[in-house]
Amino acid sequence: MIEIQNVRKSFGELEVLKGIDLTVKKGEVVTVIGGSGSGKSTLLTCINGLEPINAGRINVDGVEVHAKSTDINKLRQKIGIVFQQWNAFPHLTVLENVTLAPRKVLGMGKAEAEAIAEKHLRHVGLGDKLTTYPSRLSGGQQQRMAIARALAMSPNYMLFDEVTSALDPQLVGEVLETLKMLAEEGMTMILVTHEMSFARDVSDRVAFFHKGVMAEIGVPEQLFGDPQHAETRAFLASVR
Ligand code: ADP
Ligand code: MG
Repeated sequence: MIEIQNVRKSFGELEVLKGIDLTVKKGEVVTVIGGSGSGKSTLLTCINGLEPINAGRINVDGVEVHAKSTDINKLRQKIGIVFQQWNAFPHLTVLENVTLAPRKVLGMGKAEAEAIAEKHLRHVGLGDKLTTYPSRLSGGQQQRMAIARALAMSPNYMLFDEVTSALDPQLVGEVLETLKMLAEEGMTMILVTHEMSFARDVSDRVAFFHKGVMAEIGVPEQLFGDPQHAETRAFLASVR
């Protein structure tokens, strides 16, 4: 379980998270939507400890993410994160890119790491690309490789930050299908996305961020069908 309580985060004078409360239960899929600069990416980087917070607390499976005593590298192994773009190592094959962290970080042997990497690459539909170099993959294939790379660490949680935003429109679907598959398999995830129909389809709950505040959260039917706040309505009108 991810428990976020009254989290505040500033960059210098600018407060970008103004008291966020959110609990994500095991197996839940929570989507975060909202305008540019509303704090969506910052929330994800605070959850996995990439960014410190100024107030409040984030607890993942009983571990305080921002406590001094917390082994952040160990915690991060449980929380996979995939961004808009991931620069794979160009001189390594797809398989080698995916085995890198399990081998270096987890100290896994080559054979075991390759077996796990291959399993995840097959799962995301890249079973025939093991010995291919990243530059030969399409954008959609590269994003699926990034997802396989995160899964190879056996995370309990996955955070996705606009993973389809940099893709050509015709490649978006294959990546969304992969995310949907993970959701249906019970992966606990927080997704930031601009794909509203996908959010409606796949989410247990949808959170709308506005200027550093979680203005509204609800089941998709409620948030999209009967938004309670003027800001939510304005945002949804702007993206439809
Ligand atoms: P979103 O993902 O919703 O577009 P972000 O979380 O990326 O929003 O950013 C929220 C605000 O914080 C923006 O005003 C952005 O410019 C600012 N910001 C984000 N990261 C940094 C940083 N590392 N240093 C300074 N300001 C930042
Ligand atoms: Mg962002």
